[in-house]
Formats: sequence, structure tokens, C-alpha cells
Amino acid sequence: MRHYNIPIFIPELACPNKCIYCNQRFISGQQFQPNKNEIIEKINSHLQTFNSPFIAELAFFGGSFTGIEVNKQIEYLKIIQPYIIKGKIESIRISTRPDYITDDILHILKEYNVKTIELGAQSLSQDVLDFSQRGHRVEDVEKSSELILKMGFELGLQMMIGLPKDNIEKSINTANKIVSLGAKSTRIYPTLVIENTELANLYRKGEYTPLSLDQAIIWTSQIYQIFHNNNIKILRVGLHPSESLLNRTELLAGAFHVSFRELVLTQIWKEKFLQIPQDKSNDLVIFTHPKSKNHAIGYKGSNRSYLQNHFKTITYKEDLALNDLEFHYSTGK
Ligand code: SF4
Repeated sequence: MRHYNIPIFIPELACPNKCIYCNQRFISGQQFQPNKNEIIEKINSHLQTFNSPFIAELAFFGGSFTGIEVNKQIEYLKIIQPYIIKGKIESIRISTRPDYITDDILHILKEYNVKTIELGAQSLSQDVLDFSQRGHRVEDVEKSSELILKMGFELGLQMMIGLPKDNIEKSINTANKIVSLGAKSTRIYPTLVIENTELANLYRKGEYTPLSLDQAIIWTSQIYQIFHNNNIKILRVGLHPSESLLNRTELLAGAFHVSFRELVLTQIWKEKFLQIPQDKSNDLVIFTHPKSKNHAIGYKGSNRSYLQNHFKTITYKEDLALNDLEFHYSTGK
């Protein structure tokens, strides 16, 4: 059975918050919420491209879903119900802020077949949240996560790394807390400095330095393994490369790379290979799961090139019994 995602972008038009890294206040005038027909058209065009048999999940993303007017939320959720009744869409996923969760909201979401709720936790260090003017507390994440799980939803918690006042220990602590709060999925975003934000002002004044690409890769590689080892699905690593990020019109600074996830996985594998005793006269055979082979070879073959400098020959082979971050090897002359 194949799994598909139908993303529906619902921008929150008037976010009252002032997160220092976000340009929402400046772009909200240029954004529009889709109407019923546009949503139906989008769903239908997605469904036509799916190969049967399939399981489809509809994801409302783009803003804090539960921050929009309740009637509007219900209006959106109602559009999806006929698809759920007919078995075309299996479930709904929404994303929102930790302080926008109440019992009443959760009852509405339950009634309309929402299965997964993702919270933008960003950091679970209060000083990081405060400096970034997130406007919520660590306890809000804890309380909302508990409520979400108690009501039988699946929980997703997203985090950012490299915000002002953050450091590797705090980010690792955030990842560990995300695990202990019971999340089933996560997303890891390195902080980017976007034009027209308070963070851009701080950056220009020399009061904030984002993580370099190398630092972001190293931090993320450690956090990635925490989630992987605890069976938490890592839905995204690094921001989706929108056009404005790609042509750098909005991006002022920060660890952005179109292949960020690949670079992180390359780093994880590189660290594993550093444990193999090196011997220039040895042939090295590395076994990985087939889906991990490319990452073990590395971005642009960098891990293979590294190993080629330390062994006579390198061969990659597949072993279906391994999980995607496991490997074994043999050496010989
Ligand atoms: S990041 Fe903060 S300011 Fe931006 S839309 Fe979300 S809650 Fe609003």
C-alpha cells in the first residue's frame, strides 16, 4: 500500500505573534486563504496521480491551523469529510502553536477526523523561546502534548536549531524532551535569517550569528540519531527550498542547502566509518541496507572518496537485514 500526502497551504492571515525569525507580518498582505473550490480542485488533482492501492493523508500546513477562526477551521475540515467517508482520504494532519491547543479545539478536531497534530515547539529551553519572542512557554508544549495524546491524537513536535541563545546541549536537550513527550514525528529546521525580520536586524548589527552550514550539519546529525534511535519519524530536515530561498531574495544568512538532509546523512555515515581501523593494504567491503547505500557513499561520493584514501579498494554491498543506520564490514588483503 503506497502512502501519499495532499498538502493544503492555509496561511494564517493575521498572526498576532512576533517570532523574531518570521516575516509573516510583512508577507501576510500578499497571501490568501484558499476557498472551497480551490481546495476540492487541489485534492482531486492529487488523487488522480496516486497509484492504487493507496493511503492518503491531507495536511493543512502554512500557519497555525487552530489560530484561525473556529468557524473557518470547521469549514475547512468539512470539505474533507466526504473524501474520508468514501475512503479516498484516510486522515487529516494539522500544524499549530503549542499555546493554541484547548480541550474545546481538540474536541472539534476529533469530531472531524484529524489524526495528527504537529506543534512548533522550536526549543524547549525557556531562554531561547523568550529571546525569540515565541510568546509561549515550555510548559505550554508539555501541557498541549499531554492533552493531544490523552485525546488519542498522534503528536508531532517540530524543532529549530541555532536560534539566539541556543547551543548544541540545549538543542540535544530539546530533542530528548521531544522523545519523552511522546512525539511520533518531528521536523528539524536550522534557523535562517530572512529579510524583514527582527533576526535580520540583529544579524546586521552583528548581534546574531547563525550556525554555519558545517555546524548545522553536525548538530543535526546528532539530533537525527536521537530521533532515529527512538523510532520518531523525521519528516523533514531543513526548510523546503522555496523559490525565494533558492534565488536568495529573502535569505540573508544561515545554513540553507538544497540537499541538507543528504549532507546530514553523509555526516552520520562518515562518523560511523571513522570507527573502522584503517589499513592502506586492505580491501574494505561495507554492507548497508539498500536504501542507505547512497548516503553511505556520501554526498557527491565524499565518504567513498574519504575511504579510498585509507583502504586499497572499497566495495559497497547490500544487506536487507540491516536497519537504515546500521552497517557491518569485512576487510581482507
Ligand atoms: S512563526 Fe511566529 S510570528 Fe510567524 S506565523 Fe508562526 S507564530 Fe506567527
